[in-house]
Amino acid sequence: MMLSKKYPLGFYPTPLEKMENLSKKYPDYNLYIKRDDNSGLASGGNKVRKLQFFIYEALDKGYDTIITAGAQQSNHCRQAAAACAKSGLECHLLLGGNKPENYTGNLLLSHLLGANIHFTGDNRKGEDLFSLKQKLEEQNKKVYVVPYGGSNLLGAYGFVDAVKELKKQLSDLNLKMDYIFFASSSGGTQAGLKLGTDLYGLDVKLMPISIDKLGYGDVTLDKAVLELLLEGQKTLGIEKAYTIEDATLIRGYDSEGYGVVTSNEKNAIKELAHSEGILLDPVYSGRAFYGMLDHLENKKLKKNSNVLFWHTGGLPANFFYSKDLI
Ligand SMILES: *Cc1c(COP(=O)(O)O)cnc(C)c1O
Repeated sequence: MMLSKKYPLGFYPTPLEKMENLSKKYPDYNLYIKRDDNSGLASGGNKVRKLQFFIYEALDKGYDTIITAGAQQSNHCRQAAAACAKSGLECHLLLGGNKPENYTGNLLLSHLLGANIHFTGDNRKGEDLFSLKQKLEEQNKKVYVVPYGGSNLLGAYGFVDAVKELKKQLSDLNLKMDYIFFASSSGGTQAGLKLGTDLYGLDVKLMPISIDKLGYGDVTLDKAVLELLLEGQKTLGIEKAYTIEDATLIRGYDSEGYGVVTSNEKNAIKELAHSEGILLDPVYSGRAFYGMLDHLENKKLKKNSNVLFWHTGGLPANFFYSKDLI
């Protein structure tokens, strides 16, 4: 079974906790949090689940070098750098924009983790992956490409697998979740959670908060997610007729654009930090948490429901965005 072919990189299961203080503040709901920010590798995050599948495949097929791409504050790239260090692979990162004078946040950590960093100017979404691959292959390296954000079907398996983990935790606690809120940006987490809930029969409404209003070129993110669902249902044997409705994201919290930190994200980060002592990040989880709080405050969810926030990590980016967070 494909889903068991993973290289162990993290601490699983990640904790599932009740947010007691925040639940008191919103007495119509019971609020829980799934702590993928505690997944263990180089300050954790959701990409560790995906990387377990990529690293397994890369080693299994005899590759010696990984390349992947992201923003300079990419959590995915930082976790990829750590995964390569642990598994003995050479790591190359393609990061958008120009080389800054100072390294901070995720960029600093990727550097400390030993990644070879290539700044790619305006090519911000991995456009240069294949030209770098060629160049490295000319140096006789065997190069495995992890896509932008780790979001192909293999990466999404990380979150199919995560649903199995959650289902066991919920059944041990004799608990049913009504909603799961999470940040969705390159689509692998969302596609994996959707496929997983259908594969394992977990009855819960997914609430993917859109982070980046741009898609890939002219492909919108919901279409990219639908592609993953259609591909995944075949390999996993899920009998469902997926439509674009199954891939829809909650829009409207992303209108400022990717990586633009407003008082919404700042206030959401402070609310969780002050109530539960848990730190979010300003780009992804802070924005998604703001979206969830908006649903709670405006009573957009069923009364007395159990609501889970899936914390996808991102802590190091707070240091880069410090000016926006004070
Ligand atoms: C990458 C990332 C996400 C989004 O996950 P996708 O699978 O790319 O949609 C959410 N939160 C954090 C902190 C991330 O780094």
